Amino acid sequence: MMLHPDIDLSRWSKEEIRMLRLKAAMRGKTTNEYLRYLLEQDHPDPAPIKAYCLNCHQESEQIPKREEETIQFTICDEERSVKVTELPAFSCSKCGNTIVSVGLSAEVENIVEEIVSELINRPAARSIPKTISFEDLLNRGKLA
Ligand SMILES: [Zn+2]
Repeated sequence: MMLHPDIDLSRWSKEEIRMLRLKAAMRGKTTNEYLRYLLEQDHPDPAPIKAYCLNCHQESEQIPKREEETIQFTICDEERSVKVTELPAFSCSKCGNTIVSVGLSAEVENIVEEIVSELINRPAARSIPKTISFEDLLNRGKLA
């Protein structure tokens, strides 16, 4: 299986690798099992942050909320769209403007396109879902 380019242990320092090996050993796990264990332990939960709002141009509190975002893409010259629900976002406490992190949004888009092309390329092709839950992607890495 082709790993994502961000997953590259050769870019870790030797000190980090030693820490990883020792912490894995203390947990009675191989390094791979330990990394999986960490992945399952982490449940990122957005908290309010102070930030500069690009809409009202003021420092404000950004309140966590969930959004729907429609992702458009082209497959076999056909325009398709999938709605992603429960996407973590922030709403400006002063003007109400909603933003989704650019990094998160881009990664969700890449993953949805990946899943859709997997569905299409299967021998028994499944139809493309109209809606994908972010929580399913976050907790299972796949569709429900
Ligand atoms: Zn604002």
